[in-house]
Amino acid sequence: MKPQTILKSQFGYDSFRTGQEEAINDVLNHQNVLAIMPTGGGKSLCYQIPALMLDGVTLVVSPLISLMKDQVDALTENGIAATFINSSLDYDEINARFNQAANGEVKLLYVSPERLDSGYLNRLAELPIDLVAIDEAHCISQWGHDFRPSYLNLAQTIQQLPSQPTIIALTATATPIVAQDIMQRLSLQDEVKTGFSRPNLAFKVIKHQDNDKYLVDYLKQNAGQSGIVYASTRKEVEHLTKLLNKKHIDATMYHGGLPKEVRRENQEDFLYDRVPVMVATNAFGMGIDKSNVRFVIHAQVPGSIESYYQEAGRAGRDGLPSEAILLFRLSDVQIQHFLIDQSDRDDAGKQREYDKLQAMSQYANTQECLQSYILQYFGEKGEKCGRCSNCLDDRKEQDITVDTQKVLSCVKRMNENFGKILVAQVLTGSSVARVKQLHFNELSTYGLMKQSSQKSVAELIDFLTAAGYLLSVGGQYPVLKISDLGVEVLKGQQKVYRKVAIKATHVLPEND
Ligand code: ADP
Repeated sequence: MKPQTILKSQFGYDSFRTGQEEAINDVLNHQNVLAIMPTGGGKSLCYQIPALMLDGVTLVVSPLISLMKDQVDALTENGIAATFINSSLDYDEINARFNQAANGEVKLLYVSPERLDSGYLNRLAELPIDLVAIDEAHCISQWGHDFRPSYLNLAQTIQQLPSQPTIIALTATATPIVAQDIMQRLSLQDEVKTGFSRPNLAFKVIKHQDNDKYLVDYLKQNAGQSGIVYASTRKEVEHLTKLLNKKHIDATMYHGGLPKEVRRENQEDFLYDRVPVMVATNAFGMGIDKSNVRFVIHAQVPGSIESYYQEAGRAGRDGLPSEAILLFRLSDVQIQHFLIDQSDRDDAGKQREYDKLQAMSQYANTQECLQSYILQYFGEKGEKCGRCSNCLDDRKEQDITVDTQKVLSCVKRMNENFGKILVAQVLTGSSVARVKQLHFNELSTYGLMKQSSQKSVAELIDFLTAAGYLLSVGGQYPVLKISDLGVEVLKGQQKVYRKVAIKATHVLPEND
């Protein structure tokens, strides 16, 4: 049978999506392949169809136990022989499942990466494994946003399988560096990459808003629509859910601290459209295949573009117009910064995370097309989307080079050793005691922007920080430093533009 025939007979679809056929053909030709497709792009079929065509077993490595069961259930319902092996099963059950696979009663065998350790290697080696599919393959790369040590041994384990299976690795989020790393670690020969752009998604960044109010207003305006609200912490998830419910907005929640049973119930309420809004941490969503999600709102900024795009991409899987909204506050960036600071990563690991966070901040403050910014991050070129909040922003751009130079030279004169508030106080000529104690009232930049409010200078610093002219360095009490780009501005080699609201000065026509 041909792949096309199986697509129709087993899965009921008429045509392949972009990239699927190419990936399947690679596998059938024993080419090890990396498939990079956006969330909802149809990665599963790239190994499920070959699995049905090959004589032996297809081993599917999947990181999430809950997901495994759902996938196996869906396949079984479709009349496809599939099973899984993970830590939720006892020894006898695992043994029985291995026996089934060895007897040719199973086409797809799902395992978690942790289960591929030496204890199971002997049993796996007995199986006629033709194909190994590695889902969420970016987890193998330390350059990725979700590195998992259990993925590191995968390549070695697969090499030890006597049947010498073909490998297909799949991911929705891979920058060029991550893709290269995956290819190398797993000795892959080909890369199938479909466009990352999501033409039905409208990206929006909302800044300097009262987040709670924005959310309540938005959800009221979009009452009954299905959507996800992401927050960084369990506490914030609880706070938002309580707030929404108090405002009579039907919302449920999901985070790792809730009992398993409650999590499952809440997830199902959302999936089966009994409750339209899900408020969740990033623990929610991997493998959730809900097609009619109309919006994904991030109430707090996530730590990387990879995470953001993956989570935002859960909107509009059905292809209908949907929104991906980021509510951005610099204080949330500082929370992420602090989390990195406190993590047990080594210095190089921390630096990688800071860089990712910086790219995320730049997304929030770029004035380019948001979709193009994301595509560029993943190494793709993109036209202006015409739908995002930047493409639709018709405010005029203003040259703010001189103001930027004022801020940067003040930061420099303060020896790049202080934070935003103090810099804004010095620039606006504040008389607070600390400025005097540190003799900053004697600097030539003291009061240089005294016609502006401290708040607007602080916002300008936020803009310059997130746009990469300034760096905000350090954990809890970050200090401002001047970036290479900032140095170019100081030297007059680089101009800075910012779209700012023009103050409404109504001039009435004379004959009115
Ligand atoms: P991914 O793993 O890439 O996020 P899935 O494999 O879960 O995506 O597929 C997303 C949805 O698209 C599923 O509901 C799947 O059945 C559907 N799908 C996959 N391939 C096709 C196709 N060729 N035609 C129509 N629907 C498809």
